[in-house]
Amino acid sequence: MTKYKLEYVWLDGYRPTANLRGKTMVREFDAFPTLEQLPLWGFDGSSTKQAEGSNSDCVLKPIRVVPDPERLNGAVVLCEVMMPDGVTPHASNTRATILDDDGAWFGFEQEYFFYKDGRPLGFPEHGFPAPQGPYYTGVGYKNVGNIAREIVEKHLDICLAAGLNHEGINAEVAKGQWEFQIFGKGSRAAADEMWLARYFLLRLTEKYSIDIEWHCKPLGDTDWNGSGMHCNFSTTHMREVGGKAYFEALMAAFAANKDAHIAVYGPDNHLRLTGKHETASIDTFSWGVADRGASIRVPHSFVRNDYKGYLEDRRPNSQADPYEIASQVLKTIASVSTE
Ligand code: ADP
Ligand code: MN
Ligand code: MN
Ligand code: MN
Ligand code: MN
Repeated sequence: MTKYKLEYVWLDGYRPTANLRGKTMVREFDAFPTLEQLPLWGFDGSSTKQAEGSNSDCVLKPIRVVPDPERLNGAVVLCEVMMPDGVTPHASNTRATILDDDGAWFGFEQEYFFYKDGRPLGFPEHGFPAPQGPYYTGVGYKNVGNIAREIVEKHLDICLAAGLNHEGINAEVAKGQWEFQIFGKGSRAAADEMWLARYFLLRLTEKYSIDIEWHCKPLGDTDWNGSGMHCNFSTTHMREVGGKAYFEALMAAFAANKDAHIAVYGPDNHLRLTGKHETASIDTFSWGVADRGASIRVPHSFVRNDYKGYLEDRRPNSQADPYEIASQVLKTIASVSTE
C-alpha cells in the first residue's frame, strides 16, 4: 500500500471568473487510484462564495484524476461542486451545463501574461519596453527575458507528464505574454484539461513570485495586444460531411446567437474586441477565410476540403470558462439541422 497525496481541485463561486481552489487528502491505495476509488469530499462553501455560513457544506465530486508530476505519490483530482445531496450540481458548476457530444473536438489556445511587481514580466519599472513586433514567437534575451521560457518549458513538461493533451506553446505579441494550447476529443475532456493546465501553471509560478494575469486587456486602451482563448472546434458532421450549405447555415446560427456567445466569452471583452489587434468588433458577427480580424476564422484547408474540418472562434478571451464556451458552441451547433 502507498499513501497518496490527493489534491482535490475545484472552481469556486467568484464571478465573472472562477478561481481554482485545492486541498489535500491523504489516502492509501494499492496502486495509483482510479476515479471510482476516489471518495466524495466536502469543503466550506462560505469561504468560496458557494454557500451561506449557516449551511456551508458543499460536496466535491471527482471527475478526472491525473498524476501530479511535482509531488511524490501525488494525484490531482479535478472535481465538480455538488449540493449536499451529492447529486444535484451546485449553481456554480458550469461543467454540469454541457450537453456533450462525443464527436466534438475542441482545441483551446490560452493566452496570458506573466506579471511581476504589478506589471508584465520584462516591462521596465517606468514606461514601456520597445513596441510590439519582435516578441511574437521571439527568441533572445531582449525579446523573452531570462525566466519566462524556463517556466513555460516546465509547465509543458508537467502537463505532458500528467497526461494532458498539451499541444504546443509560443511567445505572444506583447512582451511577457505567452500561449499554450490544449486539445481534447469531447468538450468536457478538453475543458477539464484546460482547467488542469491552468492549475499547474498557477502552482508552478508561485515559487518564482510571478503571477498569471488572465485578464483579456491588462494594459487597457494601449497598443499592446490583449489575451484571447481562441476556441477551435469540430463535430463528426463537420469533419466527415461538411459542405457549403451546412457551413452557411452554421454561420447564420452563430450570427443569430451572437449575444449568447459574447455573454460567456469572458469578462471585459469589449476592451479587447475592438476590431484592432487581430480581433473583430464585439458588436458584429463575421467570418472570413484565414482572416484573423473575423469573429470566426475559416482555415484555408476547410474551404479546399469541401467545407470539412474545424473552425476557429476567435472571440473567447483568456479569462473565459472553457466549460461555458464549449457549452454555448455545442448549443448553437445543435440548433442547425444536419439533414
Ligand atoms: P493559431 O495560433 O494559428 O490560431 P494554434 O496552432 O495555436 O493555431 O491552435 C490551433 C488549435 O486547433 C490547436 O489547439 C489544435 O489542437 C486545434 N485543432 C486542430 N484540429 C482540430 C479539429 N479538427 N477540431 C478541433 N480543434 C482542432
Ligand atoms: Mn478544518
Ligand atoms: Mn495559437
Ligand atoms: Mn495566440
Ligand atoms: Mn488562434
